[in-house]
Amino acid sequence: MKFKVTIDREECISCGQCWETCSEFFEENSDDGFSQVISEYRIKDNPAEGEASEDLEDCVQEAADVCPVEIIDVEEMSD
Ligand code: SF4
Repeated sequence: MKFKVTIDREECISCGQCWETCSEFFEENSDDGFSQVISEYRIKDNPAEGEASEDLEDCVQEAADVCPVEIIDVEEMSD
């Protein structure tokens, strides 16, 4: 099972909770200060979209849960 993770970066308040909770997957963008997916896991080089394997599920889900503005979405991918 894989998971698609989406960050609505335009709504990010740069609080740092997601990358503090799950630094394996999220980081701060050095230009705008908003959250992004680390390059290794990006889908089509998009900083707002990434693919997480099952071993990262708990990590990305926890980050989504702690985001105060609830802009991190985690969805199961079909294949
Ligand atoms: S937890 Fe949410 S608001 Fe905070 S930096 Fe991460 S995506 Fe942005």
